[in-house]
Parts: sequence; structure tokens; C-alpha cells
Amino acid sequence: MKDACGVVGIVAADKPVAFWCFDALFALQHRGQESAGMAIFDGEDIAVVKDEGLVYSVFDERVLMAMHGEYVIGHTRYATQGVANWTAAQPVYRQSGRAGFALGHNGNLTNTDLLADKAGILPGMMLSDSDLIAELLAQRVDAGNSLREGLAHVLPTLEGAYSLVMLESDAVHGVRDPFGFRPLCLGRFGSEESPDGWILASESPALDVVGATLVREIRPGEMVTLTKQGVTSVQLMEPASDREKLCIFEFVYFARPDSYLMGHQVHTARRRMGELLAGQSTVDADLVMGVPDSGVPAAEGYAAASGITFGYGLVKNRYIGRTFIAPDQNARAIAVRRKFNPLRENIDGKRLVVVDDSIVRGTTTRALVTMLRDAGAAEVHLRISSPPFMWPCYYGIDTPTRDDLLAAQYSIDEIRTYIGCDSIEYITLANLRSAIRLDGECCDACLTGNYPSSIPPSSGLWDAGK
Ligand code: SF4
Repeated sequence: MKDACGVVGIVAADKPVAFWCFDALFALQHRGQESAGMAIFDGEDIAVVKDEGLVYSVFDERVLMAMHGEYVIGHTRYATQGVANWTAAQPVYRQSGRAGFALGHNGNLTNTDLLADKAGILPGMMLSDSDLIAELLAQRVDAGNSLREGLAHVLPTLEGAYSLVMLESDAVHGVRDPFGFRPLCLGRFGSEESPDGWILASESPALDVVGATLVREIRPGEMVTLTKQGVTSVQLMEPASDREKLCIFEFVYFARPDSYLMGHQVHTARRRMGELLAGQSTVDADLVMGVPDSGVPAAEGYAAASGITFGYGLVKNRYIGRTFIAPDQNARAIAVRRKFNPLRENIDGKRLVVVDDSIVRGTTTRALVTMLRDAGAAEVHLRISSPPFMWPCYYGIDTPTRDDLLAAQYSIDEIRTYIGCDSIEYITLANLRSAIRLDGECCDACLTGNYPSSIPPSSGLWDAGK
């Protein structure tokens, strides 16, 4: 599974905001590796620099030195909708209004066809749902409205998931959809008494890396506006329910372990997932290991609660960029071998408890289990820190159709046989929620089929949604 992007917005007078935006995007690289970009207002115009590739391959010191200004937004992209090449890299720019405006989007809209139809936009004219939002705003601004007026009109018509950052000549805006599917937080540079800048970012580590202090998370339906005078907030749309619907997989898998979401540190939640998973059943084993990276904190928790020794069994290559696979090779097995290598002396002859965060298609998990057995594991007992993944996501995560979701097609015992492990157990939804210590609710539609917002007609699942 891949997340659908990271966003950043910064306003600070007489500061190296392009360099800060670069560092913040670098901290959000895990949220999108297909392309990266920034838009900066230089006092007269908005300049946009974006390209395919990782943040450090799109920007270098020479480029950043040439990016002057006090207002900047940035984006890292993984495409869940639209084309996946440089033309759809973000921020998206439109030449409407005083200096135009630029927009970065994390999420996925579910009513794009309807929106395009109403606005008289021909199917196929837009590069992505983010491009469509920009076009809808541009139509409003070209008709004589301010960008703020355009946002107040357009945003309530959008359905699905969106955490947006937008740049215009005198402000950076940040907004979350009324469900709050994707995260967005606000940070401050300098002291509370005399702040000297503001930052918006998908996750709090992007604030830490530039020395900003986390102020708070943006509320569902809220729009904040950052200017050199300070921060203003408007509840642009009423929250869709009295409970936030942040994606539960942000806690399980997507977010960095050092992120704070809904006031909770992600690493702590993952460790508790392992503790509670261990309490669901017992198994005789010699070693508990996690599948790096997000399975490791849960494995630590499992080991602590079960009393079984914790250890490392896999080394992960962190530098996987663009790779190539010969047509006659087994693509999944090659991909797994490139990414993971077993620590043979740690696992040879051992009965392993292997903790992973999720099983989607099952092909990767199956290749991993084969790898561990080939390296000498005597037994492999899989423990999964999310419940069975049974429904596709339409809110900004790239998932296969229901036909390709292993848990939607097979029983737990059939899954065990297919994967080739000795036993398998998933955390229960109640334990997952307890591990996160939810005050409210999260979206868990891919686990339950209870879609909180509309899903596209093309899904063929309309009966499943609530
Ligand atoms: S459907 Fe699943 S992956 Fe998508 S937002 Fe909801 S919890 Fe997250």
C-alpha cells in the first residue's frame, strides 16, 4: 500500500523558507516518492519547481538558493488518481488572480466526474483530482472572486479526502476535509509570545526537522490562513460527524513512528498493538521479530507482553529507488529480495513469531515467509497488527480491487495455507482501537466496509457504503 502524498506550507519573513520547505518535505518522503515540488511567492510572481523523483533529486543547493520569498508550499506525490508522470507533479499552478495561486493535495476525491460535469470540464481534460480542484478555483477567481471566496464556494462541493495547502501572493492556506481523513498540523517558529513564522505539514516530524513547535492539528472542515501577521482560522465546513475519521492506517503503517496524531505518538500506539496482539493467544516460540519498519515496534510490544525474546531477523534496504525487473523474473520475489535480506544466524533453527502491519494481496508476505524458511526458520507464526484488509480504499490510499484483496476472498485457514506459515492471527478491531486509545473514531472502511463518505460509482460497491 502506498500513501497519497505529503504537504507543507510555510510563512516566515526574512528566513530561508525554501530550505526549510526542502527539509520538511524530506521528512515526509515516505508519503510519496514519485515526484516532489515547491511553489514560492517571490514578491511579484509565484515560481514553481517540480519534477519526478525523490526530494533530494528534484532540489539541490543551487536551485534552493535561487528560490527567494517568504511564502512557500511543497508536495511529495504518490499517484492514486490521474497520470503518474512529471506533468501531474505538484504543486499545481493556475495563473488566476494577482500572482496566480498554487495548490498541493493529500487525499483522493470521490466525486470528480460529477464536479467536472457541473463545471463544464470535459472528461480526460484534468491530469488528476488535484488539477480539477485547481481548475474549479481558477474558474471562481477568473469570475472576479478572491481565492478565499473561491475556496469558500468550491471546498464544500468536494467529496472524499483532502488535506490541502494553497499559496497566493499574501498567504498560505491549509484545509482538511470535513471527515479529516488525512492529517495536517500547524507549527510555530520562535516563541509563543513573539512567533517569527508558521508552518503547516502532514506530520509533526516535518516541524521538528526545521525547529518548529507543534501547535495543534487542523480540525476537520477547518481552514487556517498563515500570513506574516499571524494565523487566522475559519470553520469553513461543519465537521461531517462529531467524530474525526482520520485513516486508521496512519497509525498502523503510513505515518512515521515519531509523528503525533490525534495527540498520540504513533510509535507508542504500534507497540501497544503488539502487546494486545500477544494477549489474544499463546504460541511456543524462540524469537519475536518484526518486518521492518512498521512491524518492529509492534514486535517489541509482542515480545514484552509474551515474554518471548525480541530480535532482528530481516535487514531492510532503505535505498530502493527506481528498479527494473527482467520480464521473465518473478517480480514479487525479486522485489522482496531487493528490499529484505534475512539475518541467518539469528533465525536458523528458531521458531519465529513474525509481526507485520498488514496483508493486502498476500504475495509479499508469502515471499517473505519463503525467504525466512529458506534461511533456516523452523517455524513461522505470523501476527498481523491490523485486522483483515477486506475492502478497497477510496480516500487516498492505493489499494487493489476487492477481487485482489486476499482476506476478501479466502478464510483465515486458506490464507495460512497460501502464505505457507505455521499459524496466523490478526489483531481484533477492538484491540486496534484500544491500542490507539481513540477518543473518537477513525476511518476503518477497508476493515469493515463502513465507508463514512461517498465512494465513486465506478467502485461497483455502492451497496456496501453507508
Ligand atoms: S479506507 Fe482504510 S486506508 Fe482508506 S482512509 Fe479508511 S482506514 Fe484508511
